[in-house]
Amino acid sequence: MPISFSDSGSLYSQLITRLRDVRDIQSAAAVLQWDRATYMPLGGATARGRQLATLRQVAHEKLCDPVLGEILEQLDGEAQQYPYESDEASLIRVARRDYEQARRVPAEFMARLSHHQTESYLAWAEAREAGGFERVCPYLEKTLDLSREWASFFPECDRPADSLIALSDEGMTSRVLEELFSQLRGELVPIVEAIAAAPPIETKLLQQEFPETAQLNFCAKLMERIGYDFSRGRQDATLHPFTTSFSINDVRITTRTDLHNLTESLFCSLHEMGHALYEQNIDLALEATPLADGTSSGIHESQSRLWENLVGRSRAFWECFYPRLQGFFLRQLGQSSVCDFYRAINRVACTPIRTAADEVTYNLHVMIRFELEVAMLEGKLAVEDLPEAWNSCYERDLGITPANANEGVLQDVHWYAKLIGGQFQGYTLGNLIASQLFETALKQHPEIPVDLERGNFSTLLTWLQRNVYRHGRKFTADELVDRITGMPIHIDPFLRYIRSKYGDLYHLDL
Ligand code: ZN
Repeated sequence: MPISFSDSGSLYSQLITRLRDVRDIQSAAAVLQWDRATYMPLGGATARGRQLATLRQVAHEKLCDPVLGEILEQLDGEAQQYPYESDEASLIRVARRDYEQARRVPAEFMARLSHHQTESYLAWAEAREAGGFERVCPYLEKTLDLSREWASFFPECDRPADSLIALSDEGMTSRVLEELFSQLRGELVPIVEAIAAAPPIETKLLQQEFPETAQLNFCAKLMERIGYDFSRGRQDATLHPFTTSFSINDVRITTRTDLHNLTESLFCSLHEMGHALYEQNIDLALEATPLADGTSSGIHESQSRLWENLVGRSRAFWECFYPRLQGFFLRQLGQSSVCDFYRAINRVACTPIRTAADEVTYNLHVMIRFELEVAMLEGKLAVEDLPEAWNSCYERDLGITPANANEGVLQDVHWYAKLIGGQFQGYTLGNLIASQLFETALKQHPEIPVDLERGNFSTLLTWLQRNVYRHGRKFTADELVDRITGMPIHIDPFLRYIRSKYGDLYHLDL
């Protein structure tokens, strides 16, 4: 039964209007950020930093307005009478959560943080050019202070990392993650060791010259064929690919190409397309509300990794699309088989860069970062000792030592442009959730692999639309995974997938 909120219609519409104002300002800031990462000339950096700080402060003030708190308070009792998953009850519940969180953080802190983040990002870019870690170390020390200050606004949390984790993965705690990650690491390290001892897979066919315009054209055609709607989105080039949404009807992808490595654009595009399919397919009734977003970084990443890996690195998918890829790159790929290509795109190697890592080693990179973040926040690791700690974790888990800071502690922008804490766990949660969801989809629709071979995505897309996309932020990650799979988030589906696929690829009993 549709819910009208007839008795308090005006109060509810006041809530909608206030939340839409906040959303509009946040979306305007997102346009400025997108422009900064794509077309803005370097000279615009200082002004853009100031403009973003101003918009963020205005949005924050509007979100913390005590009148909004009163409206939410008054509506709360009524919301209880409506189904938990209704638009109205969900909106009030989620808006209240956002309000409670935002009002703890002073606007003055937000302005200070935004200003520091702009400076820190520029120092990181310089450090990557020439300076090394010393250039950025004082900035990172200040980021750590600010991260602890953030945690101090939430004294009810057990550990400082928890309030930062909650920012992107509501309901998760550092203790739950440590338990999950230690189980996962224990299982993964022997798998990686077994694969490393096996004969390596040949990847030469991927390291030829692939004209970049043709790469982008192929990726655009592929994404359109799968279901990304270009009339409500676009693709542009950038250094650090991301997806951004200004509206359910304007969800943009950025990607990067490498003339000598075809996998860069292919899998970046499929990854970002996964994020974008989620955002383009949120129920339009939720437009311009806080529900018109992915529910957590873990769920968001599950959607990108599902398309990038479970679909995009599968044999079935390339049975359909490899002949088309060969059509784009006849000279380079004309003589190789789909089997050669499938094997090459799934090579496992212990390498230093997270974003270029294969499915098997990827989570080890993430868990190292998580461990280091928590240690820094808890005062167990000083910022100046970070590079050494980083390298020894890589030696311990992957058996390699990064050759320099760009391959080590400077490779990810997160700590230099955001906060320390809560930045990385979503990537591994995403991999785990993607496998858990995909396993359930396959149980309910065993025809999906045959569909993929025929380039038919409708069953999978409809399943994702019905179970994940349309809900936006209505459910937390735990609620959503439990509703769909009947189980809490766990590591077994991911491990079953890895053991089966890579056991076959490397002729090993994993
Ligand atoms: Zn992603």
